[in-house]
Amino acid sequence: MRVSTARGPGGDDRVFTVVVESFGVGVQRRAERRFTVPFAQLQSLMQTIARSGGHIRVVSSEDASADAPESTAAAPSAPPAAAAAKASAKTSKPKSATVSHADVPVNLYKPKDPFLGTVVDNYSLLAEGAIGRVNHITFDLAGGDPQLHYVEGQSIGIIPDGTDAAGKPHKLRLYSIASTRHGDNMADHTVSLCVRQLEYEKEGQTIYGVCSTFLCDIQPGAKVKITGPVGKEMLLPEDEEAIVIMLATGTGIAPMRTYLRRMFEASERERNGWQFRGKAWLFMGAPKTANLLYDDDFNRYEAEFPDNFRYTKAISREQQNAKGGRMYIQDRVLEHADEIFAMIEDPKTHVYMCGLRGMEPGIDEAMTAAATAQGLDWSELRPQLKKAERWHVETY
Ligand SMILES: Cc1cc2nc3c(=O)[nH]c(=O)nc-3n(C[C@H](O)[C@H](O)[C@H](O)COP(=O)(O)OP(=O)(O)OC[C@H]3O[C@@H](n4cnc5c(N)ncnc54)[C@H](O)[C@@H]3O)c2cc1C
Repeated sequence: MRVSTARGPGGDDRVFTVVVESFGVGVQRRAERRFTVPFAQLQSLMQTIARSGGHIRVVSSEDASADAPESTAAAPSAPPAAAAAKASAKTSKPKSATVSHADVPVNLYKPKDPFLGTVVDNYSLLAEGAIGRVNHITFDLAGGDPQLHYVEGQSIGIIPDGTDAAGKPHKLRLYSIASTRHGDNMADHTVSLCVRQLEYEKEGQTIYGVCSTFLCDIQPGAKVKITGPVGKEMLLPEDEEAIVIMLATGTGIAPMRTYLRRMFEASERERNGWQFRGKAWLFMGAPKTANLLYDDDFNRYEAEFPDNFRYTKAISREQQNAKGGRMYIQDRVLEHADEIFAMIEDPKTHVYMCGLRGMEPGIDEAMTAAATAQGLDWSELRPQLKKAERWHVETY
């Protein structure tokens, strides 16, 4: 193995190109791959290559100065892990890693003049014995001018019928879209939502949310005021080899369902010509197995694409964490911290988090603990990932 030891003026700002044979697993295994990384990432790249069984053919420094001496050497000494991850976050904006915001429709319909969609389907997503009420609701969008269209990761607004306590029309509520741009029936003119009926106790009374109850009760044929679409935070990268880590609780699964359908549903793959070959890893949190949403589809994707999709569940009332307490999604994140951080170091990796706002502190705590165990500072790293458009959060 040839290693150039040329140094940049800063001492450790060298950029290396590593040529590897037989890298990857399963269908992704390639005869030869070329990686270009800063010195700080070299060590972790070497580890990733070793884990995948790849053979390193050449390691060379890209910006070696003309008079730099070349020598045969073993892999360079390990850079501090924190420096490696920081360098990764900072250098993680090659074109293929970013999310394209071009051609994303926004606010085609506004609250003053909403589109009137027609309910075509409304059914429960929960199994016997589940807690609460969560429905999958589909609206027909045909006939609009302009046609209401959207992409994966966006939301729409719903204005419920009726008036508020002051006698004024209700304000809109946002809902993450749960169908791909083609709609569940691939007809290009429907949109689906995944809605949990809000229910809480106040002064001895059970209170039900206005819009979520309106939606869960609505019957096929009814007309509903729809606005939007909105949102550019949760868009998918176009890179077919992206690594997508998804952290979802409850109805936070909606955008993840759109990504996974786009990645793995046969009709979508055929239609889009977008052949996802990367890695997708869904962490799903639910109180009971009966509350898992779209579980059959995700199990099917995992069986059909074992090299590309991994599905990890945290079922708080049925599973125990390492301390014997309830198993929450953050416990699963901690369990797999090493792998998650190794993935995050790869500029192709995007992390998506969606669900109730209450999930954020737990995930943050888990990421902080996991980062600390690796000598990293999560409070420094997270903003860098965010800036690199690789950390996507939509909580409500
Ligand atoms: C970007 C975005 C995406 C969203 N996506 C989804 C989605 O995919 N699915 C989904 O189901 N929801 C989603 N929501 C939430 C949704 O917009 C509504 O907020 C939710 O459905 C409740 O609306 P509602 O009209 O039923 O409740 P409301 O009648 O508006 O009641 C809500 C109010 O009740 C009060 N309240 C709530 N809980 C309690 C409590 N425990 N104790 C006391 N008071 C309380 C609070 O004042 C709160 O503002 C999303 C929100 C956002 C911002």
